[in-house]
This record gives sequence, structure tokens and C-alpha cells, in this order.
Amino acid sequence: MDTHILLVEDEEKLARFVELELLHEGYQVTKSGNGREALELALREPFDLILLDIMLPGLNGLEVLRRLLREKEVPVILLTARDAVMDKVSGLDAGAVDYITKPFAIEELLARIRVALKLHKGRNASAQGEEHAHQEGVLTWGALTLDEPRHQVKYDGHEISLTNREFLMLKTLLENRDIVLSRETLLNRVCGYDFVGETNIVDVYIRYLRSKIDDVFGVKMIHTVRGVGYVIKSEA
Ligand code: CA
Repeated sequence: MDTHILLVEDEEKLARFVELELLHEGYQVTKSGNGREALELALREPFDLILLDIMLPGLNGLEVLRRLLREKEVPVILLTARDAVMDKVSGLDAGAVDYITKPFAIEELLARIRVALKLHKGRNASAQGEEHAHQEGVLTWGALTLDEPRHQVKYDGHEISLTNREFLMLKTLLENRDIVLSRETLLNRVCGYDFVGETNIVDVYIRYLRSKIDDVFGVKMIHTVRGVGYVIKSEA
């Protein structure tokens, strides 16, 4: 079944551009340029994901978000203006899964959509009692295991000592295998959205992880995608 995305954006040129890219990726797209109309659509139809602009005619995007999430659970990514820090904070508090600042690179938006869809699917699966993955809470990559409940990482049985943030970074990369995560996304997941600092702190943690895993065990686990971010690939 097609993944159906509701795109709520009143800047027509931007909406058309994003729509074409989403269609090209194989998503089904419904567009709306009005907050009130978008809320009605979102309440009526089962969308898999919603891209929601904040400054909208009819009803403000944050209000759409609050009213919508009171009624149903659906992943929402906010499209925010640069410097609209309060909008981002309010939006995440209200339950948006992510935000992206305009103007954005389309590749980054697409990556965030994939992450949001995957995380949501994972949450639904465990909510539906598919206890296997949930119960074990163990991620593996080759000889590496990350045991979340025990907060333990091992390679071929050898325990690797990681700080909390290194652990979170590794977990995020392992959970999103084959998806290139931007430094901003990694920073948000690892340090929290309210973290004030440079995204190159991510590079520092990646270096620590590589020095503790890749270098010690002679593997190439974390790949750098120049200009984009980092990815752990599935084993071939
Ligand atoms: Ca707008």
C-alpha cells in the first residue's frame, strides 16, 4: 500500500516543488494550503505522515498540530522558518516528531521523512504486541551487539565502554540503518532539541565511536557521506 503524505504549505511554489519530489519518491500526496482545511483532512483520512507549515491561513500550524494529536496519532514534521525557535519548541512539546527549517535541502527532508516513518512503524509494531524486538531490546551489526536494557555494547563478546551520548549516537545509527542521518538530526536525537552548540560536536562523537569500535576491531561500521552526514549500512 502506498505511503500517503499530507503536505500542508501555503507557499504554492514550495508546495509544488515538494509535492513533485515526494511523488518522484513514490509517495502518494495530498496538498493543502489552509490550516483549517488541513485539520479536517487529517482528521478524516488515514495519512501516514504530515508535513506541516506553521504560518498558515485559516488556522496556525501549531494549533492544527495540537487539535489533531488530541484525536489521533500520526507523525508530523514541522516546516519552520529560520530563527523561529519558539515555534520549534512549542511544536515538539505539542508532539511533532521532527522539524525542518526552511529553506531546506530536499534530500534532508526526504531523509527525515524516512526516519519518521520508520520510527512510527517500529512504535506501532511494538504497541501491537510484537514483543520480540521490544522485549529483547538488542540491536546487532555483525559481531556487535547493543543491549539497550543493560546499556551494554559488545563486539564479539568484548565489552566496549561508551559514554551515554556515544551509546545514544550508536543506537540511533543502528536503528536507522541505511538511512543517512544529518549532523543536525543526530545532534537533536543525542543532545536534545534544546541543545545549544555546533553540529560538529557530532563529528567528535563519531570519532570517539570509531576509535572504540572501528579502529579496535578492524571494521568499517560508520560511513561518512560527505556533505550530508553519517550512516551504518546493513551488512551485505
Ligand atoms: Ca506559510
